[in-house]
This record gives sequence, structure tokens and C-alpha cells, in this order.
Amino acid sequence: MADLGRWTRAVRTGMGADPAVGAVVPPIYLSTNYLFDGMGQPGAYDYSRSNNPTRDLLSDALATLEGGAGATAVGTGLAAITLIAEAFIPAGGRAVVQHDAYGGTWRLFAFLAEQGRFDVDFVDFNDPAAFQAALGQNPAVVWIETPSNPLLRITDIAAASAAAHDAGALVVADNTFLSPLLQRPLEHGADLVVHSTTKFLNGHSDVVGGAVIAATQEQHERLRLWGNALGLTAGAFDSYLALRGIRTLDARLRVHQENAAVLVEVLRTHPAVARLYYPGLPEHPGHEVAARQQSGFGSLISLELHGGVQAAERFLDGLLIFHLAESLGGVESLICHPDSMTHAGMSPEARATAGITGGLLRMSVGVESADDLATVVSEALERAS
Ligand SMILES: *Cc1c(COP(=O)(O)O)cnc(C)c1O
Repeated sequence: MADLGRWTRAVRTGMGADPAVGAVVPPIYLSTNYLFDGMGQPGAYDYSRSNNPTRDLLSDALATLEGGAGATAVGTGLAAITLIAEAFIPAGGRAVVQHDAYGGTWRLFAFLAEQGRFDVDFVDFNDPAAFQAALGQNPAVVWIETPSNPLLRITDIAAASAAAHDAGALVVADNTFLSPLLQRPLEHGADLVVHSTTKFLNGHSDVVGGAVIAATQEQHERLRLWGNALGLTAGAFDSYLALRGIRTLDARLRVHQENAAVLVEVLRTHPAVARLYYPGLPEHPGHEVAARQQSGFGSLISLELHGGVQAAERFLDGLLIFHLAESLGGVESLICHPDSMTHAGMSPEARATAGITGGLLRMSVGVESADDLATVVSEALERAS
């Protein structure tokens, strides 16, 4: 048989394999429990928190896509982050987390540190001296998120992983912003990949979910055990929908990226725009690394308007198509004001250090017609001028 590529194998996960009635699309197993063959003789499944056939299919697809030994599908992206924190950071240990990580990641690590569970350093990974100093404290885990949220800063995964490994740390990469079709951190040396499947993987803004993909079987086994012990595992219906979303990931991403490229051209020369953040731009400070470690620049664009928070308000007031909402990666275009929305959970000092200002907007470019998107963004820029 032909040696099928990663994407073909992933998109076809579970297809045509139903032993009961020959369903092409694998059925969803909602049952919480499963029959034992006899006393002391469980079948392949016993209880759905521990194991569920629908969740297993989602995990298989994710492990295939990221090139990992296995994937643990959990209830939310933050459950995936919690799982790693609990399974891999010992009591009194230390985590080094990128300072401009997702707001919820920042808050979770800050809460756990405040609670005395472990210590955390939030570090600018583009500051080599600060990064090296943090590694000198023997962290158990180094947490990368690239491109970062919302300024789309790029971290060189291979270089950061090598330095972290020298310091004896486990490397985690949050790959939510790109999905495994555009970046595969395990190939660059990361040990674990985290996803909020809520975003591009599900892609339809109707499931909250998460996953951890491990490079080795041993790490995967540990995550599986802890995921069950902590009760973080994903529900069957959510798993079914997330896998359904993954089947169109490649098709969606192509349109997402095409549309993003059109909007970048609209924004790039407009006088109302003070700064444009998109790793596909040659002047973006992370462009070269992004071009090397990614196979696409994604469909998130951040921009800072000259007029600060007032200009941002005018931009948003009457904006068509783009809904003002948190989250990203769905087929619908969204816009968010990080300062008052996604990143409001960070301390004001941390927000300032991370460069999140009142005039900053983040767009998640959807799959609507590029012409319509360009028109409404041009109109909004005129209002903001
Ligand atoms: C959304 C998001 C998360 C958290 O995921 P939830 O599914 O909302 O719990 C983590 N990391 C990144 C980069 C995200 O965008």
C-alpha cells in the first residue's frame, strides 16, 4: 500500500472502520460505561473518563498531525496546560514561561505560584540574557508560545529547546495559533505540544477543548494517567466535533491565509496604522525564524492605531463582518481588543511589559470573501483616522 502522508492519514482517521454497520463516518460513543466480559475481565473500554473510543480517534488524529507518540485530549486548552503543570512540575519546582503567553496561561501559572505550588518566572524569550538567567534557576519546564498572543512575537523553537535541554528542562510549545499544519514544534526539539482545540483545530467556534501531544511514549503514558486522575479528559461529543473540524483544517487554513494576506496589504500602508504585527512581513523582527520553522504565516493580524483607545473604539464602532469577541481560529472573522478583553486578567505592569496598549486590536481573519473583508477594514480605517 502507498505510504500515505501525515495529512491524508489524519483527515481519514476512523473513516470506514465501523465494525457494527459499516458507517463511513465513525459513530460517536456517548456511553459512560462499557460491559465487562466476566468477573475481572474488562473489555478495551470500561469507563469514559478513563477511555472513550470517540476521544481516542481525536487523539490519534492529533498525534498523527504533530508527529508525536500520543495525544491526550482534554476538556479545554487550559485543562491541557493544567495537566502539564500537575504532571511535570514538582512541588517547589520552577517554570519559565514566556512573558507574553496567552492571558489565561499567565493567570494559571501566576495563581499556582501564588498558592505556593511552584515558582514561576515570566521572561522575555527574545532577551537572551534574561532567558539564560532564568534557565540558570533549574526550571522543570520551559513554556514557549509562538507566535505569541497578541503581538505575534516569534520564538526560535530549536534554539530555545536546545538551551532549555542543556538546563535539564522539559520544553512545552503552545501551538494553538498555527495548528500542526503550519508548525510542528516536536520536529524542532520541543517535548510536548499544547493546543487549545477551541481555535483552528475545531475551527467552528462551537467546542471548547484542548490537547497535549507528547514526543515520547513514556511522557504520553504519564499524561494519560494524570489526565484520568485529575478528571480533565474531553467529552465524547466535543471530541466528535473537534475531529469533524480537523477534517477540513487544510482547506480552511488555505482560505484563512489568503484572506489574511489581502488584509495585510490594506493595513500595511494606511496612515491610521502605527504598527502592524504579522510574521509574514519582511520587517517583522521574527520573520526569518518564522519563515524557517513555520510552513505558513497564519491568519492572525494585530495592529496598533495611532489614535490609541479612542481610535480603536472608532474602528470598532459600526465594523461589519468582524464580530467583537474573544477567541480566534473560527471560520468567522473576529476582532478583539486585548487590553480590555483577552489580556485583562494580566496585571497592568505585565500588560505594559508585553506591549499591550489601548490602541491595539487583534484580528482573526475568517473565510468570508476577501473583497468584503478588505472593504469593511478600509472603511474602519477611515473612521479611525
Ligand atoms: C485559547 C488559548 C488557550 C486556552 O484555551 P481554552 O480552550 O480557552 O481553555 C491557550 N493558549 C492559547 C494560545 C490560546 O489561544
